[in-house]
Amino acid sequence: MQKIMQPILAPAYCESCYRPVVPEQFFCADCARLILPVANLDLKVNSKYSAPVLAISNYADPLKKLILAKNGGNRLASKQLAQLIWEQTSLRYLEIDYVIPVPLHWTRLVTRGFNQAEIIAENLVEYKQAFDQERLASLKSNPANKSVQVAHLLKRSKRTNYQAELKTVARWQNVQTAFSLNTELLANHIFANKNLVLVDDLMTTGATVISVAKLLATLKPKSITVVVACRVV
Ligand SMILES: [Zn+2]
Repeated sequence: MQKIMQPILAPAYCESCYRPVVPEQFFCADCARLILPVANLDLKVNSKYSAPVLAISNYADPLKKLILAKNGGNRLASKQLAQLIWEQTSLRYLEIDYVIPVPLHWTRLVTRGFNQAEIIAENLVEYKQAFDQERLASLKSNPANKSVQVAHLLKRSKRTNYQAELKTVARWQNVQTAFSLNTELLANHIFANKNLVLVDDLMTTGATVISVAKLLATLKPKSITVVVACRVV
């Protein structure tokens, strides 16, 4: 049952400037210094909920390179982002029931072919499970039935032909509100009074995150926290 954390096999060169680095470092010391932490942000969701936003840093190199990594081989980049989120935010200390990836924007699915938020979410859940188990073991309490898990709670509504006819700005707005809840999952899980963590790779205007958080708020969770790798500051 015990899950053993697999260390990520990082290439032994800097992901940003390609200078050699010691194994398990993504960036050389010079590039790592460019990752500037950002203060946590509070997003107002509605009158009842606000969601703290945890992020590694602003959207700039060298992390920007990991966000933009496109090839299949760059699933590794998503894992690296997850590891950096885990190491550099306070996520581990939060009570979490469900980690919910934001579905991939269709414009990005075309270029990437997989959902970075989903891979980040899966990896964060693994880190969190291992962390909680270790902590419970040290407290000599029973590593519980209750464990954090990924929930694919969100769906992007299908694009319609109608949408293709909209002008660019209108289409963008349409996409922003084009989420719905996965009703199958709602039938089998209880999200009321649970601690939800919403995961995306990048937060730009916050419009996507807010529209999704508003949807989650209708489930009356205990808390909503947003975790992104980078945010535009
Ligand atoms: Zn470097």
